Amino acid sequence: MAVRRSAAPLDDTSLYGEYPFLPGAEALLRDQGWTVRSLLEDPAYEGARVLGRARILAAADDPRAIRNVAEFATATPEVRYLSFLFARLVLAAAPSMAALRRWAVAESKRSSSRLESLTGAEQEEELRTVASKLHATLTLTADGWEVGLVDYLRLAAPIREGDFRLVRQEVRRGAVAVRSQRAARLLEEAIRRTLAEPIPLTEDVVQFVRGREGELFGELVARMPLPVARAGVPGGTLRPDRFPPCIRKMRRTLQMGENLSHAGRFALAAFLHRAGADAETIVDAYRGAPDFDESVTRYQVENITQRDGGVGYEPPECETLRSHGLCVRDGDPTAPDPKDRARDPLCFEDRLRHPLQYYRIRGGTVVERGDRDGGPATPRAEGPDTSGRPARPRSTDRR
Ligand code: SF4
Repeated sequence: MAVRRSAAPLDDTSLYGEYPFLPGAEALLRDQGWTVRSLLEDPAYEGARVLGRARILAAADDPRAIRNVAEFATATPEVRYLSFLFARLVLAAAPSMAALRRWAVAESKRSSSRLESLTGAEQEEELRTVASKLHATLTLTADGWEVGLVDYLRLAAPIREGDFRLVRQEVRRGAVAVRSQRAARLLEEAIRRTLAEPIPLTEDVVQFVRGREGELFGELVARMPLPVARAGVPGGTLRPDRFPPCIRKMRRTLQMGENLSHAGRFALAAFLHRAGADAETIVDAYRGAPDFDESVTRYQVENITQRDGGVGYEPPECETLRSHGLCVRDGDPTAPDPKDRARDPLCFEDRLRHPLQYYRIRGGTVVERGDRDGGPATPRAEGPDTSGRPARPRSTDRR
């Protein structure tokens, strides 16, 4: 039975200032006559551009949106909305989509934090309004909040923190019972997906934005550096385009703000270390994770890479990755790049036993175990995988 409540609906202007991605928010600018060009260069919109850049850079530094963006405090709902439009426009024109994905995570987390922090009728009203505008079936019944089964499955699939598995939920009348915090987390996922999709731009607009915002893009590269090889190891440059499909998928998963299993996280860090990545690059690979915690990640990366005096754990073999559901040699149908959607013939060759072997065959350089940061060769035992099984004898293949 649906519960009727008497809280007044939110004022639209405030609602769209807080949730500028909701359909209908464009009504805030009904009388402004703005254009893409004016938003990018008209002095009248400088305030919106300053806030838009702050949103982008804050997300690059802090995708979990733990820190407040100071400029929000004094911005009107209209300026907030324009700054959101500006950020979305600029990120759609960025040379790499990594910043857009990180921004989508941060913006969605900011919204869900607000929804979680509200109480009583105010929270009910905002949860209901945001869900309805995002076309998510969230209903408050006499027994509490319920999410339609189809929406629950759609939104909960990539969430790994907490326990969102359907078997652990109470399902009633074709819907899943959730507490308000969980409802907010599911809406966060809906928002993230919406924002992670770049808005389509013509090539002219892309070039215009890149010309205007070169400084911002430079700052993003500085804050979100490309993978870097660590100093002192032989081999030189990292070649992410030569990484095997499983590792590319793991990186994509995190960049898109989705959760990666513990086995995947371990495999990624161990692989990047053997490919010669420095510690910052490895930590950076996890920044998009919804539960990213800098100090915990650093500790774990250090654990994986510094074992045996810097030799590090051995990344799991293909067979182990397959047993964890992490092998994507058949192609990843959700990948944006056609190359990642296709089956990879090299992965089906009999000789292919290990992701590092794949990387080496494709022309990447693998740091030999004795080459630890330029140090002397040291015999070592096989590192464990995360399956909990005893360590296997090391393959005789050269990885
Ligand atoms: S076959 Fe091996 S290298 Fe290729 S995707 Fe699967 S686990 Fe990765």
